[in-house]
Amino acid sequence: MTDAELRALLSRALEHAARYRAAAPDRPHRPLASYEEMRARFAAPVPETGAAPAAVIEELAALAAPGLAAMTGPRFFGWVIGATEPAGLAADWLTSAWAQNAGNHRAAPAAAAAEETAAGWLLDLLDLPRQSSVGFATGATVANFVCLAAARGEVLRRAGWDVEAQGLFAAPPITVVLGEEAHSTIFTGLRYLGLGAERVVRVPADREGRAEPSAFAAALKAARGPVIAIAQAGHINSGGFDAFAPLADAAEAAGAWLHVDGAFGLWARACPELAHLAAGVERAQSWGVDGHKWLQTPHDCGYAIVADRAAHERAMSNHASYLPGQGDGGRNPGDLVPELSRRARGFATWAMIKALGREGIAAMVARHGALARRLAARLAQSPDIGVMHEVVLNQVAFRLGTDLAPGRADALTRATVPVIQEDGTCFMGGAEWKGRAVIRASVIGAQTSEDDIDRSADAVLAAWRRVKAEAGARA
Ligand SMILES: *Cc1c(COP(=O)(O)O)cnc(C)c1O
Repeated sequence: MTDAELRALLSRALEHAARYRAAAPDRPHRPLASYEEMRARFAAPVPETGAAPAAVIEELAALAAPGLAAMTGPRFFGWVIGATEPAGLAADWLTSAWAQNAGNHRAAPAAAAAEETAAGWLLDLLDLPRQSSVGFATGATVANFVCLAAARGEVLRRAGWDVEAQGLFAAPPITVVLGEEAHSTIFTGLRYLGLGAERVVRVPADREGRAEPSAFAAALKAARGPVIAIAQAGHINSGGFDAFAPLADAAEAAGAWLHVDGAFGLWARACPELAHLAAGVERAQSWGVDGHKWLQTPHDCGYAIVADRAAHERAMSNHASYLPGQGDGGRNPGDLVPELSRRARGFATWAMIKALGREGIAAMVARHGALARRLAARLAQSPDIGVMHEVVLNQVAFRLGTDLAPGRADALTRATVPVIQEDGTCFMGGAEWKGRAVIRASVIGAQTSEDDIDRSADAVLAAWRRVKAEAGARA
């Protein structure tokens, strides 16, 4: 391919990308085509002969278009998804163009150094112990897994067992204590680690999803042998934070490793008005947090932060005679995460922190908190809509038909979700929480404004009126 052809190809991608981003705020915030329709669009036999790259990109853009969700749109409140802001997006393009295999600092010094600086910035912004090591992983699922692998190794090492060498067979049993409202991916991580998703002590949680501190302490006190305790900064529905100071006291007394899943909530630490929510979290031994949620980096990006660097590396490091730069004290990004060959995620993180700055991050987190409270207040003006929790962060979980029998309210709440999505003004998803149906809104896209919140609240109220009217007509 000539230089001119390469430029033409990348310009086509640029054109598609820019057009997509420009249209996102005004398009329906749901995918226009279903999964089944998209399968039919993409289905094709293996191409027997190659095609011109420009034609391939044109075809990809045309095929994918109807099946794209407006996840970068300002009224996308589904799950907890950041909006891949421009500086991170552009850095991500360069990351692909530079094509560094970022496992090793001798092979890819720019990638390793950018990660190292970004890691230091993260520890400063999140106000966590500055000597901690930071692995750049694919997201909080893997970040939590990495931290728990370090925890597993260290609590067993203290019990005289080398899990890295001997595995888990005949190892002293580890007690895992966590709140019953831990995120589903924590259980996935425990499964990967041979600790078992069900072989855990579940501590009851309050209505905000926070583990009961006294029950947590009692569970830790009763545990014998090596113990891992898992707390949460930012519950997926309520945004609630565990009470870290008493949890850390109890973990310390029990000699437990305390890990905190702070996928999005840990970013409260970067916002002076909200940092109090996570007070004491710095006393944990490890933390999982995402870049692709509140920091608005492209997918995929999360950070495994471990106070005990040696435990982190013992759990993840990889040695082979053909790899340079081992044992020379330099940062090998691949020694802190499960992958050897890997994307240079440090560039996009560096770019997003640089583009927002400490002040920009703090302002964004505070603004999202205010917008979530605004949404909750607008919804709660209707006497038959109930917000399920105190809005402390950026999450709003609510129920419709609170004047009805609970089962009926569940049915109508569930029925309203697709009506909201079909309308397309905004996107919210449904969930079950504490045995009841809820609708969840996560205010986390960088571009969301007060006007977006008001338009979205109006759309929810209109959908709810329609569902009520239709239900009334049927009754
Ligand atoms: C999103 C989330 C996770 C999982 O993170 P991924 O980035 O999706 O892997 C874990 N815990 C909490 C609290 C989350 O919000």
